[in-house]
Amino acid sequence: MSKLNLSKTWNYAAATESTNHILLKEKYDLFINGEFVKSNSKKYFDTINPATDEVIAKISEANKKDIDLAVKSAKIAFRRWSKLKAKERGKYIFRIARMIQERAKEFAVIESMDGGKPIRESRDVDIPLAANHFFYYAGWADKLEYAFPNKTPKPLGVAGQIIPWNFPLLMAAWKIAPAIACGNTVVLKPAETTSLTALKLAEIIQESGLPKGVVNIVTGAGNTGAEIVNHPDIDKIAFTGSTNVGKLIQKSISGTKKKSTLELGGKGANIIFEDAAIDQAVEGIVNAIFFNQGHVCCAGSRLFVQESVANIVIEKLKDRMSSLIVGNPLDKNTDIGAINSKEQLATINKYIKIGQEEGGEIYQSKCSISKKGNWCPPTLFLNVSQSHTIVQEEIFGPVLAIQTFRTIDEVIEKANNTPFGLSAGVWTEKGSKIFKLTQELNAGVVWANTYNKFDPTSPFGGFKESGFGREGGLHGLKAYLKFE
Ligand code: ADP
Repeated sequence: MSKLNLSKTWNYAAATESTNHILLKEKYDLFINGEFVKSNSKKYFDTINPATDEVIAKISEANKKDIDLAVKSAKIAFRRWSKLKAKERGKYIFRIARMIQERAKEFAVIESMDGGKPIRESRDVDIPLAANHFFYYAGWADKLEYAFPNKTPKPLGVAGQIIPWNFPLLMAAWKIAPAIACGNTVVLKPAETTSLTALKLAEIIQESGLPKGVVNIVTGAGNTGAEIVNHPDIDKIAFTGSTNVGKLIQKSISGTKKKSTLELGGKGANIIFEDAAIDQAVEGIVNAIFFNQGHVCCAGSRLFVQESVANIVIEKLKDRMSSLIVGNPLDKNTDIGAINSKEQLATINKYIKIGQEEGGEIYQSKCSISKKGNWCPPTLFLNVSQSHTIVQEEIFGPVLAIQTFRTIDEVIEKANNTPFGLSAGVWTEKGSKIFKLTQELNAGVVWANTYNKFDPTSPFGGFKESGFGREGGLHGLKAYLKFE
């Protein structure tokens, strides 16, 4: 087979996005009842740029008393917000969407500084999609009886919302927009390593004139999250994060009146058939596992390639990996940014070590990586099988485990052999294969000839240990309503 070394010769000049236009405070307080207030704990923690190890700002740590204040304010606000004309609710949400658009560049830069993701992704994916979620649910606010005909949809009350660090503003939008469109009020907690864009969103919410207490944003780590989960006046918990914490939350709320939706981990199967458009499929593999450094619950972290095309796919994939630019998240050429935190880097490295110890054959593309910051080159493993730890467990990093298959039934069985059930991808020119797989794969989302495509109108969520409930689309409204 000929060598496909097409792309290693290019060196791009740096094209770094400016940070001059962003406004950041040195210290951020809690956003409760429409105001920024000091935490009762008087404690702050650092939020760190994972590409430079520099402290960007100090973030307040909310304690039990703070959560109590936030929930009280949401509970009081619920009385009027839930009775407000639905059209008026929609107008506020629409205004928030417009304001995110107006400040999109600032949001994108802060998202990349705080979380490490490439500016191209925060600029082109995270921020526009966050605005779209607000637009989409603004449109539904006064149409709930059309969405659910012959039923009388009613809001649930106060929603406690806990989000992860991989898509900070986008996850805040996924949670807040449908909740308030349905007439609920919220207490939202961003993840401790990426609080900044949620706090910038709080500034927008304040400027938008949204009635006080409808959205409260509190910061802190797991203990703060647990205070929200256990607060008796919370009516619904919406959580996105790890399966372990999801299980803890489910235990804590069992036997209470609290409703819940849990969007947890994944180990997505990305399946390439021999009749697929191979070059497109290779791009699809790259997007599936290296998008956002693989910090994606629906990442295509298990690749299944039909045996007859395995060699060519793997060779093309290695070649493509060698042209991926790993580095400064603020550089517009960067494909793979910084790993979100030192802890996450340690987890990824632990799995890479296990992969090697269990006999996997590793390939990593070469890249020069800065001494400061947290980095992991794009990595793939060959010579692994279903029982390998790196095939079974979620890594949440740029690490791909590759297996081959011969028949469609074999790959369905292998793909479904996982505790998770969030996502899958299928690459083939044959519609009949796509239909068979979408029916038989145990996954909340199955992408055909694409991967990691998100849209506010499409429901998203999992089966098995990937959680339950759906976000996005009409399904996403249902999760914030009761029907009397
Ligand atoms: P990861 O392992 O990817 O960091 P986590 O599930 O630990 O994901 O975190 C997701 C979110 O859940 C974060 O906002 C985190 O602070 C919060 N969290 C962590 N532990 C708990 C807990 N016991 N109860 C509620 N929220 C928690």
